Amino acid sequence: MKETILIVEDNPLNLELATDLLEAAGFAVAQANTGEDGVRLAGKLKPALVLMDLSLPGMDGLSAVQWLKADPATKHLSIIALTAHAMRGDDEAAIRAGCDGYISKPIDTRSFPSQIRDFIMARSLCKPKP
Ligand code: MN
Repeated sequence: MKETILIVEDNPLNLELATDLLEAAGFAVAQANTGEDGVRLAGKLKPALVLMDLSLPGMDGLSAVQWLKADPATKHLSIIALTAHAMRGDDEAAIRAGCDGYISKPIDTRSFPSQIRDFIMARSLCKPKP
């Protein structure tokens, strides 16, 4: 069965690009455009990985991560923050909020799928299934 990745991203072009790359790499992709939808879908789908844009309208990405990490039903989920390159300090803030890693945007279309694959593999080796 394909592993599902949930992408929470409000920019339609970024969302489409990441979705296309991951689907081409063999993943199933679920999409959310807001932090609120991201939190709801993460709880429903329990994806192998959540890719969380930090800059979202309404509930921002860091708040969404804190929300997920505070809920026993979703705190085990692996989350990678999508951080804007220009925003200094976003990386540290993402880790402090409970993210397991971060990828800076614009994403590198060549290495992105393998970055994601490596990350999922590393998590499944070192983390017991809930
Ligand atoms: Mn954004």
